[in-house]
Amino acid sequence: MIDDMLRTPEAIRDAERWTAHNYHPLPVVISSAEGSWLTDVDGRRYLDCLAGYSALNFGHRHPTLIAAAHAQLDRLTLTSRAFVHDQFADFCRELAELCGKDLVLPMNTGAEAVETGIKVARKWGYQVKGVAPGMANIVVAEGNFHGRTTTIVSFSTDEDARADFGPYTPGFTVVPYGDLAALSAAIDENTVAVLLEPIQGEQGVVVPPEGYLPGVRRVCTEQNVLFIADEIQSGLGRTGDTFACDHEGVTPDMYLLGKALGGGIVPVSAVAANTDVLGVLRPGQHGSTFGGNPLACAVATEVVRLLATGEFQRRSTELGARLHAGLRSLVGKGLVAVRGRGLWAGLDIDPALMSGREACERLAERGVLAKDTHGATIRLAPPLVITEEEIDHAVAQLAAVLAG
Ligand SMILES: *Cc1c(COP(=O)(O)O)cnc(C)c1O
Repeated sequence: MIDDMLRTPEAIRDAERWTAHNYHPLPVVISSAEGSWLTDVDGRRYLDCLAGYSALNFGHRHPTLIAAAHAQLDRLTLTSRAFVHDQFADFCRELAELCGKDLVLPMNTGAEAVETGIKVARKWGYQVKGVAPGMANIVVAEGNFHGRTTTIVSFSTDEDARADFGPYTPGFTVVPYGDLAALSAAIDENTVAVLLEPIQGEQGVVVPPEGYLPGVRRVCTEQNVLFIADEIQSGLGRTGDTFACDHEGVTPDMYLLGKALGGGIVPVSAVAANTDVLGVLRPGQHGSTFGGNPLACAVATEVVRLLATGEFQRRSTELGARLHAGLRSLVGKGLVAVRGRGLWAGLDIDPALMSGREACERLAERGVLAKDTHGATIRLAPPLVITEEEIDHAVAQLAAVLAG
């Protein structure tokens, strides 16, 4: 039997045996990839419709990014920030220019960028706004996902993410997402920041009502509160613009970036803001051993240059329209709702039909990899290098799964 020779079951058993069970992966074992396609240990090919939760916006092993990584590996990989290296200034300047901000602070993971944003906002609150010592609060939204540290899960409203990880960090007020009146009412004289995802990715690609983000911007300006946009998943081309905030002409005080910034090669995150905000940090007050390392900077500089061409944002807009048209045609045929923007979609499957997990398993059998979230929802976020034919293929496979 050919099946007995498949390496997949064995490789899955090994992976389960030696790790904490903090994930429930689909039963595939990937060994190589290129562009939008993954190949498993048995040589089967899959279309990647998750793209590493948007860490792979430029696809797997984009030639420009791989070349930059190789070249840097042969010269210099790490100095720590105790010394300056020759990749640092270009990266910071070019990213700051892409963001339209004065300064950049590089870190590694998304959660570290969020933690950095929180620390900077609090320090700004005490030193610039004049909040009484220890009193700073930050307004956040229900359904948020900002990462996994103890402080960040302290203001999560997802019980799986939060339960049994207390005691929790105080200083956060949670309000319903998309409700400007509630957000406005939650701001008091000790509020230093509003921290939001302009589109809530993990929650199921939830787009706020039109006018919400400009409203948040206006209230923050009026109340002297920083607007921090967590664009770690929504930013860097995913929605058809450089930032999801761009769609509504909104400029936050602070961008939090990660995921795609590392080109799918290395973890790179960053905070971008103007001098009046990021300038509150002095030497010794914040840092990271690996943050802004030469390899990270070499790769991320090329990521910024790819985005500066506008090509990927354009692809996301055009191909996203095709994806959404295809998905909308399935509403009433197994889908109950489709949300999203650009090459990013949240689909609610008719729960009477199957769970999101089951749909993803059946999609995987048909050679399309996607990820469920919150029961009956599936998220699609293919690499921005995906083609029209590949989008049509993914939609056709989904249609076949929903048709049973
Ligand atoms: C993924 C994500 C994070 C956390 O990033 P990590 O690199 O996993 O720490 C934070 N915010 C948003 C919106 C995310 O999607």
